[in-house]
Amino acid sequence: MNLAILGATGSIGLQTLDIVRASEGRFSVVTVTAHTSVDKLRAIIDEFHPSYVAVGLESAMRDLQRDYPDVTFGHGSDGLVTAATAGPTDTLVVNAIVGSAGLEPTIHAIKAGRNVALANKETLVIGGELIMPLLAEHHVRLLPIDSEHSAIMQLLDGAKHDTVRRIVITASGGSFRDKKRSELTTVTVGDALAHPNWTMGAKITIDSATMMNKGLEIIEAHHLFDLPYDQIDTVLHRESIVHSLVEFTDTALLAHLGEPDMRVPISYALHYPERVPFDGTRLQLETLGALHFEPLDEARYPMLRYAREAGVKGGYAPTVLNAANEAAVQLFLSGKITFLQIEEIVLQCVTTFQPEGPLTLPGILEVDNEVKDYVLKAYS
Ligand code: NAD
Ligand code: MG
Repeated sequence: MNLAILGATGSIGLQTLDIVRASEGRFSVVTVTAHTSVDKLRAIIDEFHPSYVAVGLESAMRDLQRDYPDVTFGHGSDGLVTAATAGPTDTLVVNAIVGSAGLEPTIHAIKAGRNVALANKETLVIGGELIMPLLAEHHVRLLPIDSEHSAIMQLLDGAKHDTVRRIVITASGGSFRDKKRSELTTVTVGDALAHPNWTMGAKITIDSATMMNKGLEIIEAHHLFDLPYDQIDTVLHRESIVHSLVEFTDTALLAHLGEPDMRVPISYALHYPERVPFDGTRLQLETLGALHFEPLDEARYPMLRYAREAGVKGGYAPTVLNAANEAAVQLFLSGKITFLQIEEIVLQCVTTFQPEGPLTLPGILEVDNEVKDYVLKAYS
């Protein structure tokens, strides 16, 4: 099968390439994209020989073109859209881009009839209302790579929609799960990037520490599984062994367990509907010990409430929430604001920006830009 891997140089992108290596010729990587990590991109081109490659900047593209005359290159947002639609129609598009930049290529991939394996949750958060009807219209499959959503999809397999009482998304709690709010005033970027259970890109690691990641995942689940928000719960589960649960109307509660390893949901999405062997660490129940579940306190983690409220409001509210968060995380990572200011900025933006009107792709991109510009200018 042909693969287009968008965001190939990131944490999910590189783990997708691991699965491709392990699949011994089953996949052919025809397209890859990267934003700025040109050295990693060169190594990927050397190993996988894609025919189309897109990068962020035109200058980087020109350098690459000189060294790889047989490869077609693109850059910027046009390059991403071409990457999502190039190649044969049976190409599976793996979207492992971080942030709202993933939305346009996802929509174009669907319109071009490509199935999409989606790690880029921001796409569904801001564009879910557009994407879900498009999938039906173009007979396209959207396979979640997020571990919780992959688990829920597997648990729901074959279940009738009206037999589901609720889904329960588990949260590890992130880097600061053992700190009180009062202790968060002095935490550093280094502290926030030290996630206890997962090694991931910087943005999602910060989102895990603020709990925005779980907030985004609630909205993602609402769209993917067509469930109202009052049927989507979260629970703190510090071991990250139960990846999520589904409770049915007969009180049966099904859980999906495994060692935390993103290559498992990536492999599931790539091979769907088949399930193929994966040589990962198997969970040893006999030595596992206790698993813990605790309520997630919205006073301790206000981002959960902001996200849920934006999701319930719908329209452009999730775009504002997501853009404010992306800009604030960028400012935090570059040392310009404190950890708790991320929340303050999100709250300020969701109260200040309340765009109205029908949801469109140009509208989302405009609101996304406007909110990010406002935040970055206000704090730079
Ligand atoms: P990452 O930062 O490691 O990688 C991001 C990739 O996107 C890189 O290849 C980068 O070059 C590219 N990129 C960055 N900004 C871009 C832009 N403006 N335009 C185009 N490309 C751009 O991120 P990651 O941790 O791999 O996460 C990717 C996505 O997957 C995120 O949406 C994240 O929430 C989701 N996700 C990640 C994990 C994980 O374990 N890392 C788990 C679940 C979901
Ligand atoms: Mg997740």
